Amino acid sequence: STTVIWFRRDLRLADNPALVAAVEAARSDGGEVVGLYVLDDALWSAAGANRLAYLTASLRALDAACDGRLVVRRGDPRDAVPAVARTVGAGEVHVAASHEPYGRRRDDAAEAALASTGARLVRTGSAYAVSPGRLRTGAGTPYQVFTPFRGAWLEHGWRAPAPRPREIPWASLRTDDLPDAAPTAERLPRAGEDAARRRWHAFLRDGLAGYGTNRDRPDLAGTSAMSAHLRWGEVHPRTLLADLGRAQAGGAPEADVATYRSELAWREFHADVLHHRPDARSRSLRAVVPDDSWATGATGDTAFETWAAGRTGYPLVDAGMRQLLATGWMHNRVRMVVASFLVKDLHVRWQRGAAHFMAHLVDGDVSQNQLNWQWVAGTGHDAAPYFRVFNPVTQGKKFDPDGDYVRRWVPELRDVAGRAVHEPWKLPSPPEGYPARAVDHAHERRVTLDDFERARR
Ligand code: FAD
Repeated sequence: STTVIWFRRDLRLADNPALVAAVEAARSDGGEVVGLYVLDDALWSAAGANRLAYLTASLRALDAACDGRLVVRRGDPRDAVPAVARTVGAGEVHVAASHEPYGRRRDDAAEAALASTGARLVRTGSAYAVSPGRLRTGAGTPYQVFTPFRGAWLEHGWRAPAPRPREIPWASLRTDDLPDAAPTAERLPRAGEDAARRRWHAFLRDGLAGYGTNRDRPDLAGTSAMSAHLRWGEVHPRTLLADLGRAQAGGAPEADVATYRSELAWREFHADVLHHRPDARSRSLRAVVPDDSWATGATGDTAFETWAAGRTGYPLVDAGMRQLLATGWMHNRVRMVVASFLVKDLHVRWQRGAAHFMAHLVDGDVSQNQLNWQWVAGTGHDAAPYFRVFNPVTQGKKFDPDGDYVRRWVPELRDVAGRAVHEPWKLPSPPEGYPARAVDHAHERRVTLDDFERARR
């Protein structure tokens, strides 16, 4: 009979075990496969313009890969999915399991609604190499610390990539139009499974050797830029891990391969933490200061807006915030610096910064975003020493040593040569149009450490 593959964050045909299961079930008795995507109003209204524009482009690419047969429905999946199943008389709706708080609730509700049409929701695989919730410590508890999690994750290992089904018998069905979604960023990365594969292969060829050190340099194109592709499942991390294994066997430097694998392990760790603690989406996992001491930060709303616009007077912070607005992406090192600055220099709660990131990031992903913010704020399970406060000037001099990254994103500083760009207040004449420092870093750092100290007593 006809089966449905309900795509959500797995917008690809290669290495997609749920799709393989749907195709096999349909083929077993000569049925067809409906490829379905539901534009869920609950997500559509919450996601920022950049993510929606990217998603729309990715869906167009998926439609092309599905011979133009992708079925799009707008509305609540609890109604839309059973309606499609009923129309085609499907007995099975196949999905990759969701692990985010909203996705789990949605799937449970869709499963119940499908049951009333006589159809089953079949979950195969997830967006991770090892499904969130699978790994436990020796004591049977969820992991709270990254390094042992990574050890267990490596030891557990992962399946080989699933083969891409050939000649899928796509069903032909009425479809809603994809909406036009304009990004706020000036340019977005190319979306879709083919674009993801090309980017990845270019990285394997040109970027993997040296990744371990180059990844910290925002002035270089030293990272893989795979995050949006992974966010939307245009590629599965298992495919990347298999390719990394082959690259290493073919002579790629072991340290660089291990570092990349480790970054993927962070992604899986955060998904695992959120699986066990869905409240981490909005609540601090640890109270390092009373929540209200940040909420009422002395500098308040103006400070937040100054930060969001990239006008704090600290060049590395401003460059990062402007890169985010212009491209929907920010380098990881700079994400850490700007997040630390908002929380520990401007005393604004991490949740506000996380919401701003979610509104602009193309790769915005609730588990990765919220838990990285918690890590920097020091409220996460496995935070860097929570009393660490990033110094935007020394970080700038170290990781953007010639100042190229700052000059790229902060035009007011383009005429300042070299690393002097990180301390414009020391120049004989202040660069025109560039703001003075909103706060004094040394002073605000002290305030934060005093807050921590008081909270500990
Ligand atoms: P690469 O260096 O090439 O890394 C390869 C892949 O490893 C990435 O694509 C990503 O999937 C994973 N990865 C790398 N670093 C991390 C990390 N710190 N945590 C988890 N996974 C990681 N990443 C998101 O995908 N979505 C987010 O919403 C997000 N929000 C963040 C917010 C803050 C405050 C911080 C500090 C980091 C956040 N990150 C987020 C993690 C990281 O910054 C991005 O994944 C990375 O910058 C993406 O660029 P890349 O693909 O070139 O990275």
